[in-house]
Amino acid sequence: MIYQGRFAPSPTGPLHLGSLVTAVGSFLQARQQNGKWYVRIEDIDTPRVVIGAAQAILSTLSRFGMPWDGEVLFQSQRISAYQDILADFQAKQLVYPCTCSRKQIAGKIYHGHCRQRVLKDEKRYAWRVRTDVNPLSFEDEIQGKFSGCLETEVGDFIIKRSDGLFAYQLVVVADDARQNITHIARGADLLDTTLRQIYLQQLLNCPTPNYTHFPVILNEYAHKLSKQTFAPPIDHLPPVPLLVQVFSLLGQAIPPELTQVNLQTFWDWAIQHWDIQKVPKVPSIQINTDVTLGTAPII
Ligand SMILES: [Zn+2]
Repeated sequence: MIYQGRFAPSPTGPLHLGSLVTAVGSFLQARQQNGKWYVRIEDIDTPRVVIGAAQAILSTLSRFGMPWDGEVLFQSQRISAYQDILADFQAKQLVYPCTCSRKQIAGKIYHGHCRQRVLKDEKRYAWRVRTDVNPLSFEDEIQGKFSGCLETEVGDFIIKRSDGLFAYQLVVVADDARQNITHIARGADLLDTTLRQIYLQQLLNCPTPNYTHFPVILNEYAHKLSKQTFAPPIDHLPPVPLLVQVFSLLGQAIPPELTQVNLQTFWDWAIQHWDIQKVPKVPSIQINTDVTLGTAPII
């Protein structure tokens, strides 16, 4: 089997325990299959990008002994490819401009209000893709079967935002196709966006990859670890004890002496013993970050 996996962090801050769990899971899946593991920096959401964060993430991956294959792909250098897809969709009338404000929609399903809209002199508008009632489904490696109908459950969704930025749904599909990704392993917070991506893959005649969604790590207040929830950085921690913690969060049994070994020995053992079936089949795992990170002494 050809296995081409990837890790695709947003450079909004340094790597934290939550993103490390996803990185380790996707790395092990790829390496155990003798596959490729690519890194893509999802720096399309420019207002949230922190200068220097991409480099910091890459150095942390290196320090944790996780070499990637090939060149790192930066989404910020792919704007013209996204523009070409939008132009193609426009030519095929698969998309339409939408001038509705976020307030007007307010979290509700978008029922195609602007489907027939012809632009006059509006300056701010998003591009939405037309959805349909055909059921879509996929079988997630960890989380099981998911299915749904986009038109009734999600509505026509945005692929280019009114601020001019391309939406995650479009860029992730374009980039996975460009990198010939066969297996997507990422956090379960993206589970409910997957059907939208499968829909776009079908519009683009791209194959649908295999999906694996790892549990998201929540802090003691049940918030997802992120920059916004002040997830502690990990780049100053010694790698092996922390990797052992991550391995155990992912449901894998570890001999205690493994915390004393060097990085190479850890990875050799981990790649050999990794068992995706043991990963908890839940969307999230709550931890106490002080305890989990505290067991890895600060150097
Ligand atoms: Zn609208």
